[in-house]
Amino acid sequence: MEKKCIGIDIGGTSVKLGLFKISGELLDKWEVPTRKEEGGKHILEDVAASIKSVLKEKNIDLKDVVGAGMGVPGPVMPDGYVEVCVNLGWHNMNPQKELSQMLSGLLVKSGNDANVAALGEMWQGGGKGYTDIVMVTLGTGVGGGVIINEKIIAGRHGLAGEIGHIHVRDEEKEHCNCGGVGCVEQIASATGIAREARRKMAASDVFTEMRKYGDGITAKDVLDEAKSGDCMALEVVEVVGRYLGLMLAQVAMTIDPEIFVIGGGVSKAGQFLIDIVDKYYRHFTPISENKGKIGLAKLGNDAGIYGAARMVLD
Ligand SMILES: [Zn+2]
Repeated sequence: MEKKCIGIDIGGTSVKLGLFKISGELLDKWEVPTRKEEGGKHILEDVAASIKSVLKEKNIDLKDVVGAGMGVPGPVMPDGYVEVCVNLGWHNMNPQKELSQMLSGLLVKSGNDANVAALGEMWQGGGKGYTDIVMVTLGTGVGGGVIINEKIIAGRHGLAGEIGHIHVRDEEKEHCNCGGVGCVEQIASATGIAREARRKMAASDVFTEMRKYGDGITAKDVLDEAKSGDCMALEVVEVVGRYLGLMLAQVAMTIDPEIFVIGGGVSKAGQFLIDIVDKYYRHFTPISENKGKIGLAKLGNDAGIYGAARMVLD
């Protein structure tokens, strides 16, 4: 029987789990709620119990499972130590060690969830077939993950892949969540795109379809109107594309990946957005035609469980 592996993606409201063949085929996925009370002490117990019951139900022996990988929403040290994980209430613990003990010594590995999702996209998603990818997640914030030689590059201080906080705009006055000013996240995240649109509307009286959404305008509204040809919405998307392209160019000249994989809610705008980002990316990398391309992520919210499962296959 082909060996199995398990992927666990721990989020603030639910834990996603996936059972995979080691060849990458997803056999089943399910969720358990994240019990955050009492410092999140029950989260791993719930995960372990859920894994045991699913394996039993499917008649799979724990010895046919290579291991379980786990994505954690915060910084994870190379030995699995987590100093603090605000979203879960975790402090000074080693979840990978604890989960392993709960599962009869099963191999458990863990990593930061954004990095783990990048590994998932490399394995079975938009980066399949490549070994060196940079994932860019355009969601509420801008996250990232760097994979080189099929391995997560977390950095010496957990900062590798924090590409949302690369500074790109000197004129910015407002502060970013990280404390910085002018981060690409302030422009190209879903919240950033909506803010750019509000700023542009406030700065002129020119007609735009975007005005019908008022201050509640979302990134999706902006991108939809841009696709329909609204001039001001297009201007907003050009600004977003320009700064994203600038950031990707800088990363390309630092990491030189084979492909940038763009995911997150904003990436649902699809090839329309990619084409605009690519135009500026090329503008900022005249140094060579031979460089990483830009593509779309494919796994959506499942990237985390795929990447987590892939972690135990090295
Ligand atoms: Zn920032």
